[in-house]
Amino acid sequence: VETLQNLHQIDRELNRALSLDRVVTFWMDWGIRLTYANSGHIMLVDTANGRMDMATSYGYSAERLAALADDEYKFPLDLGVMGRAVSTGSAFYVEDTRQDADYVVLSEKALSQLVIPIKRGRQVAAVLSLEKNERDAFSTIERARVAQLCERASVALINALLLMETEQERQKLGTILAAIADAVIVTDHKARLVLMNTAAMETFVKDRQTNYGGRDFMTEFANTPLVEIFNEGLEKHGYHNGELTYRDKTFQYDMIPVQHVGYSLVLHDVTLFKELDNLKNELVATVSHDLKNPLSAIRGYVELIDMVENLSDRAQGYIMRARRSIADMSQLIEDLLDVARIDSGLTLDLKAIDVLPLFNEIIESYRLKIEEKQMQVELQTPQILPKVYADSARLSRVLSNLLSNAIKYTPEEGQIYVIADANGEQLSIAVRDNGIGIPAESIPTLFDKFTRIRDEKAEGIEGTGLGLFIVKKLVEAHQGEISVESTYGEGSVFTLTLPLAEEC
Ligand code: ADP
Repeated sequence: VETLQNLHQIDRELNRALSLDRVVTFWMDWGIRLTYANSGHIMLVDTANGRMDMATSYGYSAERLAALADDEYKFPLDLGVMGRAVSTGSAFYVEDTRQDADYVVLSEKALSQLVIPIKRGRQVAAVLSLEKNERDAFSTIERARVAQLCERASVALINALLLMETEQERQKLGTILAAIADAVIVTDHKARLVLMNTAAMETFVKDRQTNYGGRDFMTEFANTPLVEIFNEGLEKHGYHNGELTYRDKTFQYDMIPVQHVGYSLVLHDVTLFKELDNLKNELVATVSHDLKNPLSAIRGYVELIDMVENLSDRAQGYIMRARRSIADMSQLIEDLLDVARIDSGLTLDLKAIDVLPLFNEIIESYRLKIEEKQMQVELQTPQILPKVYADSARLSRVLSNLLSNAIKYTPEEGQIYVIADANGEQLSIAVRDNGIGIPAESIPTLFDKFTRIRDEKAEGIEGTGLGLFIVKKLVEAHQGEISVESTYGEGSVFTLTLPLAEEC
């Protein structure tokens, strides 16, 4: 009965002990209590450094210990019978210490020693050593009790070690997070704060000292745009990114779900880059604008030469090439100016628009090229299409860019379809061709600035790589979306959606 009561008490005490210090103290105390040992100690094994730490001891002289330890008060891994237990993973009972060659004197008077290791996986994590001042003084019952004690202590010890390691990792992570300039916020699945670094606190909340763990994200950030970002992220299964302007600063944010944790939101301060980008845009816009006048003068004079002089065929050829280059340059300037306008924020002149006449007008404007390449362009729409809410000039630009690409990137005698249909609250418009197609790996970056595919199929086709960027930005400014499907060598289809005008 007494043994059972003891075991219960041991379990209770050990289960309550979370810190390594407490586990070790309980373990040692109970070892002494169960055996009436005269001295004892517990070593924690530090395999990485090949040493043992004396976690607690009882009944030794400080001088003796100091003599055995190194400068940092650590002990060699092969010290005495403990070392033997560490290397073999087995318990040892030394009946007479004078007869054991490995025995190292810790207490001058000890004559018997009981050493029991605790293993973590395959390796020994700690060793308990108990000594008595008489020969063979540990009874069989005492040895069995200490074995039971160690079995129970092992769970508590491993938990305490894990907790300590986790805490160390957490501190490491905390130090790194505090040092980085990005704002990092992590929540659990119920939007309760798990982690927030210094940069996040400094930017979005006033009080840096408060412990935010467990608090509600929505409440803590109630007066900031983070709430909206977080809510939008939740709607998209936790994936969300974009740009945020807050208190004179611009951030690029990225929200992702974190398995078994919740969500993380990282905000990267890009204010400086944004300012540089604005400066660059201003420069490009100014230069492009200033190029327009001299270019139209050149165009005028080239036309004049053609009119007033009786040119040879050769000279006519040069003039034609000059004209084509002027046209390319004008297109580049138009594109650059459009990009600059988009970057500095578009204002749309939105009206309810009938798209059918617009389609016809645009197809008509390419009639010459279509005939030159002997192409078929077919408009496929229902007889009546509801109106869309759009800026007519910008929508023309979108459609003519898509049609001009379809013509450019489709060989002679190709077939192009312009297809439109209304579904629900949107009009979808598709431009389909059976041209050279787009390699799958180029699709993700196709709508980026200056993307041009350079392969043998597109060789010799001129362009700026800005058209699709402009198209995407203009469609998005209309609250629409654009996507592309393409099979390399077979053709492409660009599909966009636009909101229908409300009155329809
Ligand atoms: P560009 O001025 O070069 O035509 P765009 O931004 O309009 O620039 O298009 C980017 C690139 O996408 C083009 O260089 C071309 O390689 C590819 N592309 C665009 N439309 C098509 C299409 N209909 N078929 C095949 N490739 C296309």
